[in-house]
Amino acid sequence: MRRFLLEGLTRRPLTESPPAADDAMREELGRALVDVSRQKLGRSLAIRQVDAGSCNGCELEIHALSNPFYDLERFGLHFVASPRHADVLMVTGPVTRNMAEALRRTYDATPAPKFVVAVGDCAKDGGCFAGSYAVTGGVGSVVPVDLHIPGCPPDPTALLKGLLALLEEASARPGAT
Ligand code: SF4
Repeated sequence: MRRFLLEGLTRRPLTESPPAADDAMREELGRALVDVSRQKLGRSLAIRQVDAGSCNGCELEIHALSNPFYDLERFGLHFVASPRHADVLMVTGPVTRNMAEALRRTYDATPAPKFVVAVGDCAKDGGCFAGSYAVTGGVGSVVPVDLHIPGCPPDPTALLKGLLALLEEASARPGAT
């Protein structure tokens, strides 16, 4: 017993070391994102997240954008509680049949110009749930998708890069301001 207590006091925790911080890249991405957003929308970007049947792995990465480490609110990027206040719908999951109508209505409630970002491999074509009777087979089978961010799940940096690519591509569209 004494041995276990001593080991508990002296042994290092059995957890992985955190990944090396790349603050400079994140800072640069965040600033680029807010610049393009202000240029295109005249304000910061509002995102509504929709879980359309995900395993929640993608949600953990999306939520990480708001934690003190990534702290994306400092760049003006924020998540909103209603699609009526959103510019971007960030949709995860293979879209279960039970969520298809809710996703359709959320899309209809979002004011134009609106963008749909399908997050994760499931959101593309059902991913590991493809073929199940319970899923429709991806976000694109229910609403139009502007961008897919691959990964299972994609990490917060990939999410940031995706949002930036979305806004840059939107600025390149004919008729964009
Ligand atoms: S892509 Fe992976 S992490 Fe995301 S919902 Fe599907 S299984 Fe889960």
